[in-house]
Amino acid sequence: MLVKVNCISCGAEFGILESIYKQRCEDGKTFFCPQGHGMVIAESEVEKLQKQVDQWKNLANRRLDRVRELEAANTLLKRRINGYKGQLKRRKNQDDRTS
Ligand SMILES: [Zn+2]
Repeated sequence: MLVKVNCISCGAEFGILESIYKQRCEDGKTFFCPQGHGMVIAESEVEKLQKQVDQWKNLANRRLDRVRELEAANTLLKRRINGYKGQLKRRKNQDDRTS
């Protein structure tokens, strides 16, 4: 698969392999048009910020998941405590009756 690119210097349209195009997107290294003009694929400011926003969103979601886990665990513990309290009360009532 070729990606069509226009040279920023001479405007010539040429194709580069998709795999190489992706690599250049990530490493920002220079590649050349058939006339030898060098260029780089720079990440735009918007793309950079969008990436940051996505990262923060992911982080927030992971934290939210953790909070939900802890809330669920908390609910279970509360139920268990209430169960023990109930047992204790019944036990106390029995003791009161027997003594
Ligand atoms: Zn060129």
